[in-house]
Amino acid sequence: MTTIQELMSETSSESILVTDSNLRIIMANRVFCETTGYSFEEVVGQTPALVRSGHHPSEFYCEMWDSIHRNGYWHGEIWNQRKSGEIYQEHLSIGVVRNLGSDASYYVGIYNGHGHLNNLNEQMTRAAYHDPLTGLPNRLRLSQRLQGAIAEASVDKQMAVVLLDMDGFKPVNDNYGHAAGDRILIDVAKRLTASVRGDDMVARLGGDEFVVLLTDITDEQGCRNTLERLLKELCKTYEIGGLKLRLGASLGAAIHPRDSNDADTLLRYADEAMYQAKHGGKNRFVIHDPVEAARRQDAQARMQEIHNALTFHEFTLYYQPQVDLFKGKVIGAEALIRWQSPEHGLIMPDQFIPLAETSDLAIDIGRFVLEQGIAQVAKWHSQGLEWRIGINISPRHLQHPRFIDDVAGILAKYPNLPSHTIELEIIESAALEDIDEIVDMMKNARNVLGVSWALDDFGTGHASLTYLRRLPTQTLKIDRSFVDNITQDVSDLIMVEGMTALAASFRREALAEGMESLEAGRLLVQIGCHCAQGYAIARPMPPDALEEWAKHWRPDPAWRQLGKRKWSRDDMPILYATLDHQSWVETMQALVNRQSNIVPELNPRMCRFGRWQQSLGKSRYGDLPEYALTVPTHEEVHQTGHKIVSLLDCGQQAAAQAELKNLYILRDRLLQQMDSLAERVTRIPD
Ligand code: C2E
Ligand code: CA
Ligand code: CA
Repeated sequence: MTTIQELMSETSSESILVTDSNLRIIMANRVFCETTGYSFEEVVGQTPALVRSGHHPSEFYCEMWDSIHRNGYWHGEIWNQRKSGEIYQEHLSIGVVRNLGSDASYYVGIYNGHGHLNNLNEQMTRAAYHDPLTGLPNRLRLSQRLQGAIAEASVDKQMAVVLLDMDGFKPVNDNYGHAAGDRILIDVAKRLTASVRGDDMVARLGGDEFVVLLTDITDEQGCRNTLERLLKELCKTYEIGGLKLRLGASLGAAIHPRDSNDADTLLRYADEAMYQAKHGGKNRFVIHDPVEAARRQDAQARMQEIHNALTFHEFTLYYQPQVDLFKGKVIGAEALIRWQSPEHGLIMPDQFIPLAETSDLAIDIGRFVLEQGIAQVAKWHSQGLEWRIGINISPRHLQHPRFIDDVAGILAKYPNLPSHTIELEIIESAALEDIDEIVDMMKNARNVLGVSWALDDFGTGHASLTYLRRLPTQTLKIDRSFVDNITQDVSDLIMVEGMTALAASFRREALAEGMESLEAGRLLVQIGCHCAQGYAIARPMPPDALEEWAKHWRPDPAWRQLGKRKWSRDDMPILYATLDHQSWVETMQALVNRQSNIVPELNPRMCRFGRWQQSLGKSRYGDLPEYALTVPTHEEVHQTGHKIVSLLDCGQQAAAQAELKNLYILRDRLLQQMDSLAERVTRIPD
């Protein structure tokens, strides 16, 4: 290994000159001084023009420098002049050496009158290919070696390109000086060289960046083991003149030929992996993962598309009405973003919001939605439509220090708009971090700006009741995963009832999301959840379509009727038992239609309805004629059930189908009777 220091050594037989980037001579060796007759002191600080003979036209020097700047070197015969005035000819090789750690470069000239050209050139080249501080190969050499290794690679050999960057190196430089930093780098170089095999290569790219080429690894696990070893080695204490320092390193690796066949690509992958290691908390290694990399690249491309969509105004807001079922009135609308792509048509938010949420794009989108949504509600108000608007706030935007200014700025444009009509919807997890700060901000927004808050997707998070109590949210939007099924699944109905009661006890308003049937509305009003939004009312639509829709919408009259019932919680099992019975009939129907082979409980005292009827039902309503009527009907239901199952057992599918019709009649009768019972127990006493 030849470094410039070694080149300059006393034993060299060539005459050598080193200048800085301004061509000031900084070093000259003994041979140079002997040949020219100048002392070292006379030479240092001069330029090489000192030895010019005047035998070459200025074009000669122009061409020489041209070649140095273009190719990094020049060599040829040159006439020089000694201090004594004697003119002599010698062969000169000049090379530029870049110190990769900084911008400084210097020039090395090697004069040789004896004709050992090859040897000289080789030394010159080697000087240009090594890092002067550590003596390690530099970037140029690495790149050559890497390309060579790729060209010569045999099929069964794998190679790892490892990029390494020290953690916490800059503070060492800043606090203890560059000399200390240099000592560490030299130590790192030594540790790395000592930790790898002879065929491997350690190179320094500059600064505190190194590359290790592991030329023969068995597999990824083999690479992992080596990286672990390197990391461990680098984490050991560095001792510099009494100072003890500990540093870490972040490593990224790419594997040839698995990841790429191209040197630059391998280095780039290693660099990306190293960046991930830094990002992932430092002092660790990451091996390039082709699948993950493809995914990231794809995400990046999609992120760019979202960005463009914002720039080219391809986002628009749809509005889904929110109604008070009991009053039969539209109370407002939730703004839901849509991407109207010229290429792909209408794109739903779940296709781009989650991705946008991983970057500050979410904030730009958030501002757009606030602008548009508030402008729309202001327009409605100016038309006499006193609706509120629900605006979804992304967690990222909510946590952004400028969030409240964003809202205030937009609100200021509409001084006549009552700001409580703006309901900002947040999800539980958004406020979990920095809860104190966020709660303060929310209260501020409410008290100073006057906006309202809603807790979205309620029931899906993990927040505690304490947390719920602290959040100044006026509305709890019950997640549609619960509401979806309330007509089918008693446990969902119980959940929604519970959440509605919870909302009431915290003096919040409950709003059911995802109401998909009129029937669901009938249950909702009975369990006290009067506000809802969902496909059974209307789908999200453009604002003018919503205005039209609102003119013609008629609520289901049963909502008002049933909403008047005053359910005590003790009576609610009537609703649950009713649902249980409906499910029982559905199970039978699925069996007959060969959609399932589950046989419903045939014993009238063992099915869920039957158990309610015997226990709670009997003890609470045993004296009521409405209750008494349900008993024989339920018996009949089960007799019919028995009959159907027997018919199926004998393979009489058609007869079973016919019998199903009777079962439906009985079901409807029982539902009717249960409804009478409900009417009776929920009637407001006069
Ligand atoms: P979300 O806030 O829970 O919005 C309600 C979603 O439920 C909407 O989906 C709506 O179309 C859908 N939905 C309403 N009624 C029914 C129903 O009866 N059945 C079913 N199955 N779905 C119903 P959409 O518009 O696709 O929005 C999905 C999610 O994207 C939203 O969920 C919200 O988290 C997010 N999102 C939408 N617009 C925005 C926005 O402007 N900003 C942010 N940050 N997120 C938004
Ligand atoms: Ca929402
Ligand atoms: Ca929601």
